Amino acid sequence: MSTASLKIDLGAVQRNWQALDAMSGAGVETSAVVKADGYGLDSGRVSRALYDIGARRFFVAAAEEAAAVRQAVGPDARICVFSGHMAGDTDLIRALQLIPMLNSHDQINRHFNALPDHPFGVQLDTGMNRLGLEPDEWASARAGVVAKGPEMIMSHLACADEPDHAMNPSQLAAFRQMTGGLDVPLSLGATGGILMGPDYHFNITRPGVGLYGGFPFTDAAPVVTLSIPVIQTRDVAIGETVGYSNTWTARRPSRIATIAGGYADGIIRAMGAKTVLHAGDQTCPIVGRISMDMIGVDVTGLSEIPDTLDLLTPVQTVDILAENAGTIGYEILTSLGHRYKREYLST
Ligand SMILES: *Cc1c(COP(=O)(O)O)cnc(C)c1O
Repeated sequence: MSTASLKIDLGAVQRNWQALDAMSGAGVETSAVVKADGYGLDSGRVSRALYDIGARRFFVAAAEEAAAVRQAVGPDARICVFSGHMAGDTDLIRALQLIPMLNSHDQINRHFNALPDHPFGVQLDTGMNRLGLEPDEWASARAGVVAKGPEMIMSHLACADEPDHAMNPSQLAAFRQMTGGLDVPLSLGATGGILMGPDYHFNITRPGVGLYGGFPFTDAAPVVTLSIPVIQTRDVAIGETVGYSNTWTARRPSRIATIAGGYADGIIRAMGAKTVLHAGDQTCPIVGRISMDMIGVDVTGLSEIPDTLDLLTPVQTVDILAENAGTIGYEILTSLGHRYKREYLST
């Protein structure tokens, strides 16, 4: 078989949720963000694993994403939608019992007209300028919206992965200002906000990337491992080249393995120069360009060629691959290939 195998440890996801949950007070509800198919790891399986240990609120980006989550967790969990109540979403919101985070006057009007008695939340913009009502829009809508009983009011931090960034206290102050005097559950912090401490916890936290083992939750249990089959090996002489555009030339007699994964599987081409494959605790550098479906690896140092080489391990994490590719762990996770044979572990 020439497809790589991706192991996803749902037990580690559960432990990460519990660790993040333990960082906030007993009265704070820890939800789980499972947008983009659970950061690429399967929103249904992830939601179910977290439901089993007590998570009762899940966030998705788009209403369509909620179907798999509802199916997995059953009727009593809350499923909230960051993009709010979009045109055309009313039937889905009603049928799946979703809670749209209303982002604008248009969405507020749409929701109250279409589903006047249906639960909703509100998203406020405290400076990120992405989603939510601006302070002046909120000022004019606030009394009417609050009278309808929002089940939560949230905002999102732009710089929470940099705890010392001045944007954090600035957004915190704006959020406090906009929600002052209200008796409504509040939510501001995602993974980074949880790590910044109780000021940022309010009533509901919304961890995403930390559940899946990514930065800024540096103490997270690793969740994904990726093993890639070796298709063939060959010996190359000094002066021979490997791969497209001849970017690598052998400086010594070398043994090269061609492995069955490439940029079509989310192994971003730009990570090649800095990335290694693991054979147990030995490392083998990538040589030449990463192709669509194949990668050359220098295995000269191995006394025996294994059937597979590992790209993602507890040592070479999604964050290390991200750094090698000039991106963030979130993008590595959500790019994980659809060709991989996926295996779900509960440890
Ligand atoms: C993605 C997202 C989260 C989760 O953020 P992480 O950094 O992955 O923990 C929380 N809230 C909103 C609004 C988001 O878009």
